[in-house]
Amino acid sequence: MSGKDKPRKNSHRESGRKKKQKSGSGISQYIIGGVIVAILVLGLFTMGKKMFGGGSKKAGSDALVTEADARQTTEQKADNSVPMTKLEITVPTMNVRVGEQIPLDIKTEPANATNTSLTWTISDDSLADRFAISDSDMLTMLDGAEKHTVTLKAEATDGSGLSASLDLRVYPKIDPSKPMVAITFDDGPNPETTNVMLDAIEENYAKCTFFVLGQNAKYYPEVVKREYELGQQVGTHTYSHQQLTKLQGTALTQEIEKGVKSVEDATGAAPVLMRPPYGAYNDTVRAEAKKYGLCCVNWSLDTEDWRTKNADATYQMVMKAVDGDVVLLHDIHQYNVDAVKRFIPDLMEQGYQLVTVSELYAARGETLDPGTIHFRTDPTEAKEETGPATESGGAGTDSTVEADGASR
Ligand code: ZN
Repeated sequence: MSGKDKPRKNSHRESGRKKKQKSGSGISQYIIGGVIVAILVLGLFTMGKKMFGGGSKKAGSDALVTEADARQTTEQKADNSVPMTKLEITVPTMNVRVGEQIPLDIKTEPANATNTSLTWTISDDSLADRFAISDSDMLTMLDGAEKHTVTLKAEATDGSGLSASLDLRVYPKIDPSKPMVAITFDDGPNPETTNVMLDAIEENYAKCTFFVLGQNAKYYPEVVKREYELGQQVGTHTYSHQQLTKLQGTALTQEIEKGVKSVEDATGAAPVLMRPPYGAYNDTVRAEAKKYGLCCVNWSLDTEDWRTKNADATYQMVMKAVDGDVVLLHDIHQYNVDAVKRFIPDLMEQGYQLVTVSELYAARGETLDPGTIHFRTDPTEAKEETGPATESGGAGTDSTVEADGASR
């Protein structure tokens, strides 16, 4: 459309310029005469058009273009000798960030379909120009589309009537120059508390990381699946929360392996992050984690929620987070539910981007290689602790979600 408009606009501009040049000369009476003649001619032309049933309000040249268009469309239709019989479009995830390039997998049948071009529309009219699809089928959601859940619809143009839809949840763009924190939850899932926290996370288009305990994930795989489907990062917290530095051989291997499997079973994807229970690690633990492609991630800000057991205290601790922090709390406790509901919107309001651990490291150009241990993004983080850090007031033993007491 714009291509057709351009030449006309240009010709108007050119004629305007010519008039200006002539008006400077001393033959204005000729120009006035000319203009009168032109008006008469135009009037006759218009009358003629009405008489012959032109009907269209458009100028003559426009009418010609429209007719040409119509011919072209007819020709295209005539070319659709082999129409599409199948149109299928998938994306790797329905959770996309503004500015992120998402490959569209567009499958059409048959292979020799004549016309496979598509027209795209979005369910929210106000976002009609807030998405782009490249020639190489890369989808990018643009600024302004964040915090919307939309459906993109592709329709065939070959008259086959085929269409395909994509549901997308659009998260805010990650700006590496702005502050961001990774909120992490350990020991879950617990449906009663985790789901309410997920509601708040979903509503605010936040992203967090859940280090799930295998034995809980096995009981409540649907909650782990929900975390994953909401674009949250799901890591492993081992199977039964034993202190890995006290284990060796098969016992150590199984704690990690069964933890990994529980995540895989629930989400269909293997985790790449492990938080060792109590933050306890040594060379043996790191080497074992590496075998499963796991990078160990501890934390730089401990809310000590297990100790205070108070929503406001947890909230106040989380709000102390600074750029690059990895924040530790637990999603299994009722007393944390209200804290999460408060700090998620409040941190975002203060300009903090809530990102997953992997997003945090990627945004800061830092790597999370298997077998390594991390605490926060910061080149000076070399905080190589030798002894076990305390996730929950000292290294306990077999603590699980069912167990009461301080050992979390
Ligand atoms: Zn734990």
